[in-house]
Amino acid sequence: MNDLKARFEAAFMPNYGVPPVALARGAGSRVWDVDGREYLDLIAGIAVSSLGHAHPALVEAVSTQVATLAHTSNLFLHEPEVLLAERLLGLLDGDGRVFLSNSGTEANECALKLAVKYAKANGRTYFVASENGFHGRTMGALALTGKAAIREPFGPFGIDVRFVPYGDVDALKAAVDEHCAAVFMEPTQGEAGVVPPPAGYFAAVREICDATGALFVADEIQSAIGRTGTWFAFQHENARPDVLTLAKGLGGGLPIGACVAFGPHGDLFAKGDHGSTFGGNPVSAAAALAVLTTVERDGLLANAAAVGETLASGMAAVDHPLLAGERGRGLWRAAVLTGPHAPAVEAAARDAGFLINALQPDALRIAPPLILTADEARSFTGALPAILDAAAPGKES
Ligand SMILES: *Cc1c(COP(=O)(O)O)cnc(C)c1O
Repeated sequence: MNDLKARFEAAFMPNYGVPPVALARGAGSRVWDVDGREYLDLIAGIAVSSLGHAHPALVEAVSTQVATLAHTSNLFLHEPEVLLAERLLGLLDGDGRVFLSNSGTEANECALKLAVKYAKANGRTYFVASENGFHGRTMGALALTGKAAIREPFGPFGIDVRFVPYGDVDALKAAVDEHCAAVFMEPTQGEAGVVPPPAGYFAAVREICDATGALFVADEIQSAIGRTGTWFAFQHENARPDVLTLAKGLGGGLPIGACVAFGPHGDLFAKGDHGSTFGGNPVSAAAALAVLTTVERDGLLANAAAVGETLASGMAAVDHPLLAGERGRGLWRAAVLTGPHAPAVEAAARDAGFLINALQPDALRIAPPLILTADEARSFTGALPAILDAAAPGKES
C-alpha cells in the first residue's frame, strides 16, 4: 500500500492529496484493500455504488454490453439509452425529455445551458443558488456552487448567481423575481454535511418558482435513485422541479448522469445546442438499467428507508461526549460531532474496519450501498462508542 501511495503522489496532480487506503476489490457491502484488510463500505464511493460491489446484475449487464457494443457516440443511437430514458421518464411519471451525460457536473451544465436558453428567450438575467450548496467543479457548475472556498479561487464567472441561505423561505422569496432565470437547489445539501432543510422548503421553492416563472432546477445527483428511501428526494414533498439532474447512484459505479426537463422545458434545446461523445454510452446505460431494475425487484427503496432507520436509531442510542447527534434520511446520514473531530473519527473507524467520510470538520457522511443489511448497520453502530473513544483528543493513533 505504501508503495502505491508514493507512486500516486508522484504521478498525480496534488488536488486530492493522497487517499489513506488503496482498494483492490469488493463484494456486496464489503471491500478489501491491497493488503487484504476487509472493511464494511459505508460510503459507497460517495453515494455511488448503490448495489454494492460486484453485484451479479451489474456484472452481467456491463459484461454483456461491453462484449456486444461498447460505444456508438451520438452519431448513432442504441437501444440501452432509449430504454434508460424511457425508464427514467416512467419513474418520473411525466412528460419530459432526457439528456445523458457522464457525470453529475455535466448533468448540471446541461441544466444551466437550458436555463440560459430560457433566460435569453424570456428576458431573464440571473440565477439563484444556495450558500454552501454544491453543484460540481466545471466552470458553470462551479459558478452555482455556494461554497466560497472552492468557487472564488476560479472566479469571476460569466453568469450572475445570487446565493441565499439554505432553508430560508423568506430569503428565497426576496431573491427571486421575474428576472430570475432559474433556482438551483439540492433537496438536502450533500457536500455541505448532509444538511436537510426545514420541512416544506422544497415545496416552497416550487411555489416561489411558480409565482415568478423562474425554472426550478433540483440537483438530485446525490439524493436520488433510492438514497433517501424514494426514487427521488423531491417526492417526499411532492415538489416536482422543472429540471432534474441525476448521476452518482444511477450507474451503480459506472459513470453516467442525466438531466431531465419537464413539459415545454424539454424542448428548450435546438438541434446542435448541446452534446457529449460518451454521454449515455451503451455500457453505462446498461449499468443504469440494471440498477433501476434491481432497486425495484429487490425492494431497495424500502430497504434504504428501513436500514436507514436502524442506522439512525443505533447512532441516536450512542451516548458519547464526541457525538452531538445525527441527521439525514434513508441511507444518507451524517453523524454530527461536538467539535472538529471528523478526521480522527474517520481514521478510527477505518482502523475498526468501517469506511466513512469526514465530510466537514464536525460531520461524518454515511452513505452505504442500498443493499446494506440491518445487521451490517448494527455492526457499525455497535462499534461506534469504541471508535469515538479511540478518536477522542489525545488518543489519535
Ligand atoms: C457529486 C455532486 C455533483 C457533481 O457530480 P460529479 O459526478 O462529481 O461531477 C453535483 N451536485 C451534487 C449535489 C453532488 O453531490
